[in-house]
Amino acid sequence: MRFCNNCLTPVLAKDQNAIDIIKQEYLKDDCPWYLGYSGGKDSSALLKLVIGALSQLDTFHKDITVIYCDTGVENPIITEYVYDTFESLKVECSDLGLPLKYEIAIPKLVDRFFVKVIGRGYPTPTNIFRWCTDKLRINPVKQIIDQHPKATILLGIRNGESEQRDRTISKHSKSEYYLTQNGSTRNQIFSPIIHHSLKDVWATLKFNDFPNSIDSQKQGELYKDAGSECPVYRELPGKSCGSSRFGCWTCTVVRKDKSISKMIENGYSELTHLHEFRNWISVFRDNPEYRCNQRRNGQKGLGPFTLEGRRIILDRLLEAESKSEMVLISNEEIKKIKELWQKDMDNPKYIEKTA
Ligand code: SF4
Repeated sequence: MRFCNNCLTPVLAKDQNAIDIIKQEYLKDDCPWYLGYSGGKDSSALLKLVIGALSQLDTFHKDITVIYCDTGVENPIITEYVYDTFESLKVECSDLGLPLKYEIAIPKLVDRFFVKVIGRGYPTPTNIFRWCTDKLRINPVKQIIDQHPKATILLGIRNGESEQRDRTISKHSKSEYYLTQNGSTRNQIFSPIIHHSLKDVWATLKFNDFPNSIDSQKQGELYKDAGSECPVYRELPGKSCGSSRFGCWTCTVVRKDKSISKMIENGYSELTHLHEFRNWISVFRDNPEYRCNQRRNGQKGLGPFTLEGRRIILDRLLEAESKSEMVLISNEEIKKIKELWQKDMDNPKYIEKTA
């Protein structure tokens, strides 16, 4: 039985194995490491183990940057939890002299969810027209990581989630703990918890007291009835999205957001107005009265929301904001939305209804 360096808790065998691999790989080269963190169980377990591994080393020759992607429409309860965790981790790691940095990836203003939907008139995403994942999650994270083409990306990918996922992982496997990814960049993916089962991940969170900043009890509460996570990196295809509380509260990829309704049932009543807005817009999206009858490229078919439709959505959103007493849209986004409305009004090629 081994014990962690900063507490007297025994380290589980699978965790110790992961810690040994992390130390070995960390020492191997100078390429920077980026760890994709969502606040979910897998990335939290990974972060715990990475911090555990670093605490067993005497010198550090490279930094590890932990990245969280704040789309601006994240479930506010989760965002608050992640920001608090980051603040507390900063203090804990700095007291121990560990070389961790924290970055928040944010989508470009023109790519933000409400700028696209209310400003440009994009219908909210569906499985068929899922325009959001790249713009809101993949690109902002990629922009940070691409500054270092040789960087290694640490992700909490695990075998055993589903047969299909296992097949995909095996297709992308480079070696036992390394995967290649889809897309244009050459970064390799390192997943030290690839052999952890769901049960192992919960054990990692529960039985590793160190670091204290990752609170396993809070994790358990957030996960009551929870589903999957929307991916933050274009790693492997097939991760589901849209039914998760570790995703956008506005997500309409699934018809019913059971995750938020369960959270409301479990006491997070402040989410009620957000949930109502999401349910309302998922129906409003398909109302042809508020959609142009041609696309922006001139093709016939359901096009963007009309200007009237977009105004109605903004009003409903501001109403939800005032009732929930949460900030749901920034002034900068509202300003951009109004600029985009004006642009459409001034554009002779913008036609809402044709005969
Ligand atoms: S959670 Fe839903 S809305 Fe958000 S990026 Fe994923 S698919 Fe898109």
